[in-house]
Amino acid sequence: MRKAIFPGSFDPITLGHFDIVERAVLLFDEIIIAIGTNANKKYMFSLEVRKAFAVEAFKDFKNVRVITYDGLTVDLCKRQQAKYILRGLRNPADFEFEKAIAHTNRKLMEIETVFLLTSSGKSYISSSIVRDVIRNGGDYTLFVPTSVRI
Ligand code: ADP
Repeated sequence: MRKAIFPGSFDPITLGHFDIVERAVLLFDEIIIAIGTNANKKYMFSLEVRKAFAVEAFKDFKNVRVITYDGLTVDLCKRQQAKYILRGLRNPADFEFEKAIAHTNRKLMEIETVFLLTSSGKSYISSSIVRDVIRNGGDYTLFVPTSVRI
């Protein structure tokens, strides 16, 4: 069984994240969206709300599950018996950052990170910019699934 963990903050989930998962379901038997808790990060949305947005966004996908976690992603992979980590790549900056994480994870355990390039038209979307649009009263609904409403 090909099981992939898609780890991230999802603060909030965007159409960019949705695009990656929607395409990855064709490659894996199960995708687990794993929403992280990092004590050093200040989130706009609580863990429960971030999870609720993602659960609702993927409610029609039989092989997509949403969980929350803390600690190392590789430890989560061991617990879930997942052999793949899924990540999205938007631009060269993502690549450099992701390369270091993927090498580190592979040193920590035998795991493959699979990268999908964002579909054109979605690569400019980021949770941090969406949060800025929300804070300033802009139309954030253009960048997020319909499950994200505040
Ligand atoms: P993190 O805090 O781990 O960066 P994010 O929720 O920002 O968490 O991102 C999780 C994953 O989703 C990362 O692999 C990131 O590159 C990817 N991602 C974020 N936005 C997009 C997008 N617009 N298109 C494709 N992938 C994206």
